[in-house]
Amino acid sequence: MENTRLGSLISQCIPTKIICLCILFTLSYLGNSVSTAGDLIIQAQENESVSNASFSAMSIGADFSVRPSVRNLTSGNREEKVDFNFSCIDRNTGQNVPNCSITFSLAENEESGGHNHTGGRPLGEMSPSSGNSGPTAILETTYKAPEVSGIVTLDATGSAPGFGFFQSTFTIHVRVPGLQGMPPGANYALVGSFGEPGVTSRHTSNHYGLPAMNSMLITLANRYAGAFPGEKIRINDMSLVDGGLFDINNNWLPDHKSHRFGTDADIPFVPKLSRQEFRRMILEVGIGKIITERTHLHLRM
Ligand SMILES: [Zn+2]
Ligand SMILES: [Zn+2]
Repeated sequence: MENTRLGSLISQCIPTKIICLCILFTLSYLGNSVSTAGDLIIQAQENESVSNASFSAMSIGADFSVRPSVRNLTSGNREEKVDFNFSCIDRNTGQNVPNCSITFSLAENEESGGHNHTGGRPLGEMSPSSGNSGPTAILETTYKAPEVSGIVTLDATGSAPGFGFFQSTFTIHVRVPGLQGMPPGANYALVGSFGEPGVTSRHTSNHYGLPAMNSMLITLANRYAGAFPGEKIRINDMSLVDGGLFDINNNWLPDHKSHRFGTDADIPFVPKLSRQEFRRMILEVGIGKIITERTHLHLRM
């Protein structure tokens, strides 16, 4: 064990957006392989030269960050991805180890992304899902993001000649950056939340939006309450905490097609007498689009 060398390796890695994780298996599990041949670190480096994914070193508790993919819309469909270089490093020498075989597996973090339901969550995929680092000691692989946001755990396991088995764990935060929760307000009610009567959607964090959208909704609510004293608007589903696909039927399918970017909000109908004036106010505060649904207006900035 050379903790100082490991420490300096890690401190070199972090500023250059490289995440290194040491092998946490115990010596007893690895048997003699570690004591005779030393142990390994798996390193994942985002290959920014070919990546078009947004990277955030400040992502919340996750090593890497990527936007959710978009499918099933009439326009704006897009696959989001992160291109990685994986390498195995000899912890004692700091050198890359060639011919290292690595297999990847993905796992869900339950309830992440505001989805309070489990089973069958789309996790995206690693492509390829396994490989050998060969003589260059680098294995290139791509993570393709799902439409659903949340935190995905990426386990890398494998072996190299002369070394024991090893495993490192990374986390990828799939999210639309920049969303903020609607604060409570005197002139509006945040409704449709998980746990209320008649609500089957299991999504606790359904009032997230881009700051511009949030402030337009607050202005709208204040103007409406000013014009119709005693009235307040109700704000139903917006986007989830990390955006992405909002599956109101808890089935990972795009029931709410467009509630994924922090730009949309459902407003249950106001009383008939004030409807015309309310529509005028919506356009006045800068909300560009009004779609009339069965029970509500769907607003989009
Ligand atoms: Zn869900
Ligand atoms: Zn809607």
